[in-house]
Amino acid sequence: MLTNNTGNERVAVYPGSFDPVTYGHLDIIRRSAKLYDRLIVAVLNNTSKNPLFTVEERKQLLAEVTQDLPNVEIDSFRDLLVRFMKSRQANVIIRGIRSVTDFEYELQLASTNHLLDNEIDTIFMMTNPKYSYLSSSIVKEIAQFDGEVKELVPPAVERELRKKYDARK
Ligand code: ADP
Repeated sequence: MLTNNTGNERVAVYPGSFDPVTYGHLDIIRRSAKLYDRLIVAVLNNTSKNPLFTVEERKQLLAEVTQDLPNVEIDSFRDLLVRFMKSRQANVIIRGIRSVTDFEYELQLASTNHLLDNEIDTIFMMTNPKYSYLSSSIVKEIAQFDGEVKELVPPAVERELRKKYDARK
């Protein structure tokens, strides 16, 4: 895993909850990893949400499903995103857009981050139309009632969802 930035590397951060990672996220990861030297997928350690998976579990799943992508690394942060980015010498934020609703919120987020640090830019990546309806919440709703999520998440995630919900029965 690369941790030093020589100064010439283009490093992007894809932040999110990833509770859990879906094929929609994975599609954004694969496409943006091609555009940058290094992509850091950063799990937000946000105590105000009530996540199904712990930060460690979410990181583990992300690591498993991105193991074939050598320039992708997984990390987490609880600090301000822009501060985390400075510490990793990254200046691009990647966010995915599924709808106009996503856009309104994302625009607000991007403007705030730019205000906090004007060297930081947000790059929006349009969803793959195949996954435009897909979210971690939808996946959890379906899995919780034993529905089929094979088309929505990688096998490792499907397995861990099953374990979580079986343990709750
Ligand atoms: P957050 O709580 O920060 O929104 P998420 O894990 O829900 O975290 O999403 C992280 C990022 O991935 C967001 O930019 C979101 O819009 C994007 N995203 C989520 N699902 C999809 C999808 N199906 N297609 C494209 N982008 C997506």
